[in-house]
Parts: sequence; C-alpha cells; structure tokens
Amino acid sequence: MKYSKLTQTYEALSKTSKRLKKIAILAEFLKTLKDEDKEVLYLLLGRAYPAYDERRIGVSEKLAIKAISKATGIETEKVMQEWKTTGDLGGVAEKLISKRKQKSLDSKELTTQKVLENLRKLPEMEGKGSISKKLNIIVELLSSAKPLEAKYIVRTIIGDLRIGIQESTIRDALAEAFFEKSASSKIQEALDRSNDLAKVFEACKTKNLKSLAQFEIEVGKPIKVMLAQKVSTIEEGFKALGKPCAIEYKYDGFRLVIHKKGKEVILFTRRLENVTKQFPEVVENVLKYVKGDSFILDSEAIGYDKKTKKYTPFQAISQRIKRKYGIEKLCKELPVEVHVFDILHYNGKSVVNEPFKKRTAMLKRIIIKKPYKIVPAKQIITSDEKKAKEFYKMALKDNQEGVMMKNLNAKYKPGKRVGYMLKIKPEERDLDLVITGAEYGKGKRKGWFSSFILSCKKGNEYLEVGKVGTGIKEKKEEGLSFEELTERIKPLIIKEEANKVKVKPKIVVAVTYQEIQKSPNYKSGLALRFPRITALRDDKPVSEISTLEEIKREFEKQKN
Ligand code: ATP
Repeated sequence: MKYSKLTQTYEALSKTSKRLKKIAILAEFLKTLKDEDKEVLYLLLGRAYPAYDERRIGVSEKLAIKAISKATGIETEKVMQEWKTTGDLGGVAEKLISKRKQKSLDSKELTTQKVLENLRKLPEMEGKGSISKKLNIIVELLSSAKPLEAKYIVRTIIGDLRIGIQESTIRDALAEAFFEKSASSKIQEALDRSNDLAKVFEACKTKNLKSLAQFEIEVGKPIKVMLAQKVSTIEEGFKALGKPCAIEYKYDGFRLVIHKKGKEVILFTRRLENVTKQFPEVVENVLKYVKGDSFILDSEAIGYDKKTKKYTPFQAISQRIKRKYGIEKLCKELPVEVHVFDILHYNGKSVVNEPFKKRTAMLKRIIIKKPYKIVPAKQIITSDEKKAKEFYKMALKDNQEGVMMKNLNAKYKPGKRVGYMLKIKPEERDLDLVITGAEYGKGKRKGWFSSFILSCKKGNEYLEVGKVGTGIKEKKEEGLSFEELTERIKPLIIKEEANKVKVKPKIVVAVTYQEIQKSPNYKSGLALRFPRITALRDDKPVSEISTLEEIKREFEKQKN
C-alpha cells in the first residue's frame, strides 16, 4: 500500500477530536484495507510490531533531528531551533522537507511495507556503529518522503503520533466496518487473548463472529492480566461476589506472569515486558518447584529482607524490574518470593474458562511449596464474615496491602477489570500518575530536574493535577533519586522553555497526598495538596494510571 494513503488517514484523524468521527474515518479505511496490508494496523498505533512484541522503535529526538538535517541538508542547529519553537518535530520535518530543493533521483514512492521494513531494523541495532546505521535507515525513508510522509515518519520513530487513537478506537472501528457496534466486546476478547491487531483484523474481515472466538492465549506470548475492582469492606465484597468466596492476601509487590514450555521459563510484567533476565532465581524456582510440562501462571513477586525475612514494600524492590546489570548481586541483596494466585494454561490447554475454584485447586496440586522461593498465595475459602475480617487483619499485620476477594465460579478474563476479583485495602490516599513535565532545580540540585508535573488520564488526554518535588532522594543509593529521574526524563523531552520541559507521558509514579483541592490553574480542575512520590511504577502501563473520574470520586469522598 502507498504510504501516502496511510498518512492522509493520519491527517484526517488528527483533524478531529471527536471519537465517533475518528471511528468513522478508521472504519472507512479498514474496509478498503487488503489482507496483505494487515500490518498497517500496527502503524496506526505508531508501532512496527503487535502489542505482544516488546521491541520498540525507540529513536531519540536527537537522532531524529540529525536525520532531518542529513535528509534536507539543513544544519542540526536550525532544525533544533525550529523544534524548540513549535514542539512538534514531525511538523518541522514536514516544513523542511517541503523546502528541499531536489529529491534524490532514485527515490521511489514510499510504501507501508518499506516503512515497516526500515522501522523494524531499528530496534535490532545495538552496539558499536549502531547510531550511524540507524541514522542511515531513517535518512533513507526521509529522502524518499513527501512532506506529509516525513511528518509521520518522524512522529512514528520518536513515538509521538498525535492522532489521538488507541487500540479501543480501532476495535470500535473494526466493529463498525465489519459487524455491528455490539461486536466490540467480542473483538476486544480476541485482542486480549492474541494481543495482535493485524490477526484480529484478518478475522474481522471474514465477517464471521465465530472466527473471533478461535483466538486462544499461547504459552510464550505475553498476556494482559485480569485486573481488580475496588471495594471498601468485606461486607461489600461478599455482597458483590456471593458466598462463599476465596479471600487471599493482597501482596505488595509486582505482577509477574510466568510462562513455561519444556525447560524454558519466560517472565512478563503486566506491561507485557519480558523480564526473564532480571529474575534468574525465579526461573530456577519455577523449574524446580512447579510440576508440569507447560503452563502460564499469574503471580505477585514480593521482596523480603534477607536477614530478618520480613517482607518489604514494593518500593524496595522496584529497581529489580528495570535493572540490566549486576543482576547476580541484586538477586542476593533484594531477593523476591513468588506468590502464585492463578493459572491460565496447563500442559497444552487453556484453562481460562474453568471456574476459579478449579484453577486455584490446580495450583495447590502443582506447586511444591517453598517459602521464600515460590508458594501459592495465602488463601481461605469462607462464607463467614468474621473469619474473613480476621484474615484481613492478619494480612495487614504481615505487612501486606490488604486482601483480594475472588468469585469461585468466575473465568479468567485477560485484560479486564471485571468484578471477579475485588481488592480491599485500608483507606489510603494514593494515586498512580504519569510525569508530563519537569523543572530544572537550582543550587545543589542544579543540572537535575527537581520538580515534576503529574497528570492523570481522561480518555486519550493527560490532565495535570499537581506538581511534586518531595519523596525523591538526593543520593542514588537512598532510592529513587533526582539524578535517576533526570536521566529517565531527558530522552522523553518534547518541548523546552526556559527551565521547564514538557515530556512524553511514559514514567508512571505512585503518589500520596494530603488532600485534593479545586484548582482553576489546572485543566483537570483539581490539584493535589502536598503530593509525595512513593515509588516508580515500572510495572504499570500508562494506560492504567488513575483517571480523572477516580480522582473526582476521591474528592467527593473527602468532602463527605
Ligand atoms: P494497586 O495500586 O491497588 O495495587 P493496581 O492498579 O496496581 O492496584 P489492581 O489490579 O487494581 O492493580 O490491584 C490488584 C493488584 O494486586 C494486582 O494487579 C496484583 O499485582 C496485586 N496482587 C497482590 N496479591 C494478589 C492476589 N492474591 N491476587 C491477585 N492480585 C494480587
């Protein structure tokens, strides 16, 4: 397919903020899309691969600027200057490419296939000389590109497409193009199981709803996990789930999905990132203490103090998720214990449709309990409110966050926040927010960012709800430091003005606060009073951060 056809669609999508209009535009586009062009769906989300594939295009703005400069013959300083005034590097590429006097003679019309081919070479390059190779690959595309094409090539490589669509927008467009609106939930299920838009598109094209039901989860391919709803009390939990139900400790760690096939173990986070290398001890324990040739387990990994054997909060071990070096040492210093609470696949068969009581019984059969290594989650099955409350108290005494209550007859719904599993924890003022801006510090914090703009989510938008400078450490050894946050933020800068920067919404942090106030200064209308960062949430996708709705609800609760 010609790339220009796709860029025209991008342009049409970016010109409207109305969701229904976007869906209509997409539906028309999808109706004409041929099977052989199905991978264009990845490009619609600014990606080169399906969601289950963790390879990212990941080109820095700096490199993109160099590529624009090389493709147009305009100095990098000039490109940089243009970018600083508009904040849109794609727009800069469009403008400068349109000024380019002569296109190289051998330039051919770009196809989506060629764009994908080049984009896919980018993540594979590492090590010496990789930067200049990457540069050439981008320049090759830009040299053949028309201005509008250049705009979207640049936006795609830096991960900032700005057309305001998400997977759910495409899902609804698929329903509109090939079925009826009501098919959206079936399409979503197929997406949740396969995490592959192109494959789901292919099935939708047959206009047969049954073809969507054939998607199954697969061992080795990451899965979006089932999420929990919140209730305030045990009584409320029983009311929602019925009696009896399962009650488990809500461990304060991070979600780890464990896949095993033969001798191979693969570990994924709920962000679908492969973290196998970071947790060699978990791999070893799974091989030793879980019976079965192949399986997928859902679990929570928690840290414990190697001397006292007391459990530590998530904060203490969060660095293990991202760390790529010194793993051996870190394993010893910050060991984790895995608490398995669900099973999705066993010896070649999906068990997501089996009732929870059967799945949880299976776990107890296949796991050889090894404290401080791997164990099934602590659980009781009861109808007795008093017993349930005692269990909750015990969980808190054991330094855990609270309890989960689970419906014994429920299926496992990947990617869903359905009410099959409820979380209860003491009233706490905490939110998960994303950093969308920062300000450089002064004095001893010179050279670092020292305050950070926090945003919540409302649909496709990120709305500011506060500014935070507390909770972050001066020294790296003490935990999350200004230096670390500064290093993380630098590659994400979209716009710079005096000592302030705007950044791509990528870094998720857990934040506590004293109070929520009304605020005319923020578009969200609300602001957090005395916010404090308590941890990086590298395990949590930006799509799952706190919403404006949730914050408004907290605000109302607080008023009462
Ligand atoms: P929170 O910040 O409250 O942990 P969250 O947004 O991270 O919430 P939720 O799905 O809302 O995630 O809360 C459930 C989380 O609790 C799960 O994602 C999982 O990581 C963790 N968890 C701990 N123990 C259990 C358990 N026994 N069963 C299921 N999930 C558990």
